[in-house]
Amino acid sequence: MFNKVIGHDTIKEYFEKILLSGNMPHSYIFQGQAGVGKMTMARAIAKNLICSSQDACNTCKDCHQFEVGTHPDIITLETTKIEEVREKVVREINIKPYQSQHKIIFIPQADTLNIQSQNALLKTIEEPPSYATIILMTANVELLLPTIRSRCLIIRFNDLSDTEMKNYFSAINYNKDKEEIYIRFSSGSIGTAQKLINDESFLTLRDESINYLNRLETADMIALYKIADELVEDKLRLVEILNFWELWYRDIMIYKTNNQAILYYPDYEGLLIDICNKLTYNKISMNLKVIQKSRIDISNNVYAMFVVENLLLDLKEKK
Ligand SMILES: [Zn+2]
Repeated sequence: MFNKVIGHDTIKEYFEKILLSGNMPHSYIFQGQAGVGKMTMARAIAKNLICSSQDACNTCKDCHQFEVGTHPDIITLETTKIEEVREKVVREINIKPYQSQHKIIFIPQADTLNIQSQNALLKTIEEPPSYATIILMTANVELLLPTIRSRCLIIRFNDLSDTEMKNYFSAINYNKDKEEIYIRFSSGSIGTAQKLINDESFLTLRDESINYLNRLETADMIALYKIADELVEDKLRLVEILNFWELWYRDIMIYKTNNQAILYYPDYEGLLIDICNKLTYNKISMNLKVIQKSRIDISNNVYAMFVVENLLLDLKEKK
């Protein structure tokens, strides 16, 4: 039933049981970070409900329409604007299913429901018709009104484990060399992994970020200002580079403290050990702090050249 969903075994077991019992609650909140599998799970449940043999048979008309996205009893909110909530939820829910025994409404960006839209939803969630299932999805359940939360069953999706992420990469037959890097940077989210794989600049910028640090190591003042010039050219890129630098020093710290955690830069092991041997614990810790502070300053619109010059000078300090 849930062969497309990676991980979340307890949630799968729960839904397998509740679907069989025929006593499924009508309103759910799925909470978990973006890309962790909330929508994939919601779709698997919905397909089961609308299938004419109630087992996602893949051969009936309902299953076929579901897969091509034309099933009339499946409604997905594209936005959470009040007009759309009124039209696609409040009004639509009272119309009996067109073709199956159920009507399922997905609200994928429930984080963005404003108070007005949530209030519009409230009555529907309070007294849903027997054929209705509503699934709200959010990264943060606290953004929903207590009155909404108390009327829904909250299902929490944990970040996927490294093993589960590995299963995903095996399933898509991805390049083994890079797998470890993507798993680290995806933080337990398949959605994030997919984004990174499709983002051609990700690995390049990661390498460029480390290259800047190498250049800085041997730079005189003129070369240092040249690096600063290049870095401040593009603010978004600068913030990404600062993120890469933070994780770089985090990896060096892992060597320093003989920690067993998995690295963000497994392909740079030699260089990491080399730098680890040159720097004291305090210096690594200070580098982490100045990078974090610089990122905050940049996002608070402090003059970028000023922030970057000071950061580079701090990083270059020997102690
Ligand atoms: Zn079917």
